Amino acid sequence: MSKKRKRRRICTYSNSTNKHHLLFQGRHWKSGYAKMLRDNFIFEIPICIHQNLHNHILFDVPVPNGQELSRMWKDFDREKPEFCDIISGIKWLISHSEDERFCDAMKKQLDFFYNELYGQ
Ligand SMILES: [Zn+2]
Repeated sequence: MSKKRKRRRICTYSNSTNKHHLLFQGRHWKSGYAKMLRDNFIFEIPICIHQNLHNHILFDVPVPNGQELSRMWKDFDREKPEFCDIISGIKWLISHSEDERFCDAMKKQLDFFYNELYGQ
């Protein structure tokens, strides 16, 4: 008697995760301070959330100019921050950059991950 209900496609929070580089795409963050920073902001996240981000939310993070990158790297190297989660990594980057386009892209990631990981 029961009708087959159309199931809503939802993200299953399985254990499968993979690595997300907060500073992407790799072909733009490929050398010097840009690459050094990129290599230090890698977080394990659920694959489904990861795919949503890249497919629908954000396609690239603008690379700040050389002076800004060098300053950010020096801050990073001096503070040697340890991040408890991806949110704290994003917040560090936002608070250590004055590049508007860069910060906008990071804020998009912040909102997205906050909702996906901790929102209801
Ligand atoms: Zn990614």
